[in-house]
Amino acid sequence: MYPFTLTKPTGTTEALQAGGRGGRYIAGGTTLVDLMRETVERPGVLVDITALPLRDTALTKGGALRIGALVRMTEAAAHPLVRDLYPVISQALELSASAQLRNMATIGGNIMQRTRCTYFRDVTADCNKREPGSGCAALNGFNRGHAILGTSDQCVATHPSDLAVALAALEASVHLTAPDGSRRTIPFTDFLLQPGSTPDREQALQPGELITAVEIPAMPRPLKSGYLKVRDRQSYEFALTSAAVALHIRSGVIREAKVAAGGVGTVPWKLPAVEQALIGERPSDRLWSKAADHAADGAHPLTHNGFKVELLKRTVEQQLRTVGGTS
Ligand code: SF4
Repeated sequence: MYPFTLTKPTGTTEALQAGGRGGRYIAGGTTLVDLMRETVERPGVLVDITALPLRDTALTKGGALRIGALVRMTEAAAHPLVRDLYPVISQALELSASAQLRNMATIGGNIMQRTRCTYFRDVTADCNKREPGSGCAALNGFNRGHAILGTSDQCVATHPSDLAVALAALEASVHLTAPDGSRRTIPFTDFLLQPGSTPDREQALQPGELITAVEIPAMPRPLKSGYLKVRDRQSYEFALTSAAVALHIRSGVIREAKVAAGGVGTVPWKLPAVEQALIGERPSDRLWSKAADHAADGAHPLTHNGFKVELLKRTVEQQLRTVGGTS
């Protein structure tokens, strides 16, 4: 591990100033400390933000659900508002990592976590994300767990967060504050960046910007939702494929459909063609199958991950059936 200094501001202004001077924000530290130990990350200054007042989970006046950036994964998963209104979020959180990590990791840190590509974490391997211009060892290496959607010739790594898949499906937004105190809100699907020619740039953050909350918009009720994660083992493992689904069904007709996939994209992958195939239709096994056929539209499998195309379709179909019921 490289030497670093640690500051622990007690107020938001002080924290933002430290971030504006180039300090890296740290809360639970469950990803960043690992990467520092492996010398993948080498921040000179860490700004411990755990004392900031960003721990609320509440409904806004407009009925949106706002979750503070410092709410722990365990707390968010168990919160009555999250469980009642958006089970898909609770399930995505509870299927993530391990109990110990969920007790430490925060919502803000969760959406900032970096890829699990093994070459990224091996500082002897070529990796454009870690060292721009060095190449991508995964392209011609072992790429069974890598992405089939949103890839580029620079990087094919998946985004590892389950929560992010639920947030993408629900069309959440991210609240940010800049070092000068100015605030902005951006759609979650714009917050995470596809690799393109700059895989080292993963989030649409300006220097020193701090995540303060994520917000899930109010949605029509009743709303059924859920998350399915397919992986090599049943705990403490990342997704090969996953599906986040939310359906508003009234008078036997699907009025709204929100669907996204994980484990397959360089970012959580929203599935608009699947959503469009569902809206205005009546739930049935035939419909789930027909809509899920679009789940892998535009996929570009690599040498070892062609199986993800069919697995993704089946994952989405299964979760549509679970949430929407059988005919
Ligand atoms: Fe690095 Fe991305 Fe290639 Fe993995 S897939 S080695 S993270 S450039």
